[in-house]
Amino acid sequence: MTDKITVKTPIVEMDGDEMTRIMWAMVKDDLLHPYLDMDLEYYDLGMEARDKSDDQITIDAANAIIKHKVGVKCATITPNADRVKEYGLKKQWKSPNGTIRGMLDGTVFRVPIVVKNIQPAVRSWKKPIHIGRHAYGDVYKNQEIRVPGKGKGEIVFTPEDGGEPIRQTIQNFSGPGILQGIHNTDDSILSFAKACFAYGLDQKISVWFSTKDTISKTYDATFRDIFQKEFDANWKNRFDQAGIEYFYTLIDDAVARVMKSEGGILWATKNYDGDVMSDMLASANGSLAMMSSVLVSPNGYFEYEAAHGTVQRHYYKHMNGEETSTNSMALVFAWTGCLKKRGELDNTPEVVDFADKLEQAALETVESGIMTGDLLLVCDKGPNDRKVNTVDFIRAIRERLETKM
Ligand code: NAP
Ligand code: MG
Repeated sequence: MTDKITVKTPIVEMDGDEMTRIMWAMVKDDLLHPYLDMDLEYYDLGMEARDKSDDQITIDAANAIIKHKVGVKCATITPNADRVKEYGLKKQWKSPNGTIRGMLDGTVFRVPIVVKNIQPAVRSWKKPIHIGRHAYGDVYKNQEIRVPGKGKGEIVFTPEDGGEPIRQTIQNFSGPGILQGIHNTDDSILSFAKACFAYGLDQKISVWFSTKDTISKTYDATFRDIFQKEFDANWKNRFDQAGIEYFYTLIDDAVARVMKSEGGILWATKNYDGDVMSDMLASANGSLAMMSSVLVSPNGYFEYEAAHGTVQRHYYKHMNGEETSTNSMALVFAWTGCLKKRGELDNTPEVVDFADKLEQAALETVESGIMTGDLLLVCDKGPNDRKVNTVDFIRAIRERLETKM
């Protein structure tokens, strides 16, 4: 074995919860620390630590990304009522991803991790479908009221310059109900548009954007208009030259078209649409664990993570002493994505090269037939296919990586 490769700048590491927390440590111990000399600025975003710090740790982590520019995050629990009971939490803390995205702004790009022996569930998909999810605002930064009874629900904007407030009635309630207020900003939508066009051009793929502007004639229509204006002003010529296009359509039309497309596009989506559709795309590509995810902030910050959650069901099995076969692919790709970006910014090609080798080792492991249970269910059957447990999958990647070093 050769000397360790030095990563020049600190990487912001955000630990997480449940099964992914367990795999996170394994990935670091088996696949990273033996090869890399890196300075990790560690933030524990596990449920207990967030509760203990009144969620300050999440804000500290986001500020650390702002300082160092590149971070990598494990999956974390977004607490609901059950979790409050399970962990004895002080309150239902907000989604850490929501908090971090709110602070960094930006767009989440998700791409399926493609291996030769897994075909997408949708037969027409020949190339991966990339998703660009706006990561700011809407329902992820909302205010909600449980309306107790009869009364008027309103939406009000109060101008800072002392002008007349703008006020509209949402509903005159005759009994109990619910109310929700959401927002977005022109700045954030514009940087979302720029990020998507830049991504499409970089990857040489057409960009589709979809909203529900027929129903939401101001809110969603503003997204549509900002995208179109930005495209016409700054991207149209470059897209023409690259032989790619920008295409706007209604979200329901986009969903129908995606199911019949060949893929090889960036589908730009509003926050909620991207949340839902990226999970569908990931599972159509084999498993939720076969999708990588990066938050690209307009200010040049990058946060890498797996697209899936903490894999709670597997964790409970694990805690019960049962064997698990949980797929660490997306966690590995979160680390390699982060290392490649760090290497690119630091101008350390040896770090990028290591990350490439680790990705290759992971892909080849699955292609050789060694895989976790989620993939064995959906892969093209081969003579050497073998289901391995969580630990042995990572060990198999390590063995392959060794041969490349
Ligand atoms: P999940 O963790 O994504 O898992 C849902 C199911 O997908 C699993 O039960 C499993 O299916 C399969 N799966 C996901 N990842 C897998 C992997 N790596 N290997 C094998 N199978 C995998 O979603 P969840 O169970 O609904 O959510 C659990 C927690 O995660 C929640 O508390 C939620 O708040 C949190 N969450 C966090 C993030 C994030 O931090 N980015 C994102 C989403 C959810 P089978 O059980 O059928 O094997
Ligand atoms: Mg989701």
